Amino acid sequence: MRVVQKFGGSSVADAESIKRVARRVVATKERGHEVVVVISAMGDTTDELLDLAKQVSPHPRPRELDMLLTTGERMSAALLAMAINDLGHDARSLTGSQAGVITTGQHGNARIIDITPGRIVSALEDGDIVIVAGFQGVSQSTKDVTTLGRGASDTTAVALAAALDAAYCEIYTDVDGVFTADPRIVPEAQRIPQICYEEMLEMAASGAKILHLRCVEYARRERVAVHVRSSFSDKPGTWVKDMEYEETGMEQPLISGVAHDRSEAKITVVGVPDQIGKAARIFGIIAQADINVDMIVQNISHDPDGGGPMSGRTDISFTLGQDNGAKAIAALEAAKDEIGFAEIIYNDAIGKVSVIGVGMRTHPGVTARFFAALAAAGVNIDMISTSEIRISVVVAADVVDTAVRAAHSAFELDSDEPAIVYAGTGR
Ligand code: ADP
Ligand code: ASP
Ligand code: MG
Repeated sequence: MRVVQKFGGSSVADAESIKRVARRVVATKERGHEVVVVISAMGDTTDELLDLAKQVSPHPRPRELDMLLTTGERMSAALLAMAINDLGHDARSLTGSQAGVITTGQHGNARIIDITPGRIVSALEDGDIVIVAGFQGVSQSTKDVTTLGRGASDTTAVALAAALDAAYCEIYTDVDGVFTADPRIVPEAQRIPQICYEEMLEMAASGAKILHLRCVEYARRERVAVHVRSSFSDKPGTWVKDMEYEETGMEQPLISGVAHDRSEAKITVVGVPDQIGKAARIFGIIAQADINVDMIVQNISHDPDGGGPMSGRTDISFTLGQDNGAKAIAALEAAKDEIGFAEIIYNDAIGKVSVIGVGMRTHPGVTARFFAALAAAGVNIDMISTSEIRISVVVAADVVDTAVRAAHSAFELDSDEPAIVYAGTGR
């Protein structure tokens, strides 16, 4: 059987951990499997490299940043291969490019467009364990080295599992699987034994960084079974796969999990003329700058009959990734006269809290219960958005933890057994 195993940064934080991972990989090989390992950079290396780049240059070119960041994964791949070789097995480390991960040219956030795994397959045929540096590839057009976005080693692993027709993809991390909330915030969170792609997609899209969003999209599209588990224990973990609740005989939970996201900011465009086409223009400018927006709220018009300076005007607020904040403001300011708004207010002291569950399709009252829990905890709601299986609210950054815990308790997700966080800094 062919398997892909991915080990995250906290699982390979130091030399001892790398040797521990090597033993785990070898044990799989000795059970008779063909093993492809995808590895992340050691500990917080990627953040440290980013900090270092900032000390050298305030706005490094994205191409050079990718050259720098990809060294993190290259380092851990080579070290893991050495540790495996010392255990008497042949291991070969490959960069993303050598492994055949072909991407778009968008540095820092490239997408995989093809995998040509010839070198991996021939190494497996030679009986080697193959170690692939995660989170990176090579641009099809420029042949430059690219990275796939923060946390994207998960995506490398699932993409390779699909291309290699692996039986499953194991994601080894610093907690025992996917929980009903981030165990770093809610120690009472429960491990979810199995979760369907759809719910996992909403969890990842809502900020649960246990799995990279594109990894889940890839897994769903290619029907890769993903097994999330701890590299520090032998506990059973979480299977992410197709699920028919009726078939499993399990009761469909009302809410499967609570997710939070601190990476967004809110922009309010104040005093937009209340005329047809203005919203289209604002979001046209944002789209041209290649920026994704998340929630959008248009407030009621100011003082429609009052005749004051703000009469016939409205405010439009939206959320976007903090890393796009400066770019969005610059793009909008450049069109200030044309659109005719008064000012822009930027706030990055916000967080998003979401409750997710396929059960809410068929059960009314979920929103009321969620909002009542927030009110009881003294949390003010700033913005709201929903999908068929998710309700999200924006709240002040300093009450995110309170809001997550309140929602978790309100939907009776608390367990008696505390969740274990084995390692990592949560950075
Ligand atoms: P790795 O370095 O292994 O990729 P990450 O830090 O990217 O690990 O992801 C694991 C972390 O995800 C956990 O330590 C935990 O704090 C966080 N997390 C957020 N939401 C959840 C959740 N619902 N279940 C489990 N972990 C979660
Ligand atoms: N090392 C990269 C990061 O920290 C990729 C990953 O770990 O998945 O984002
Ligand atoms: Mg990760």
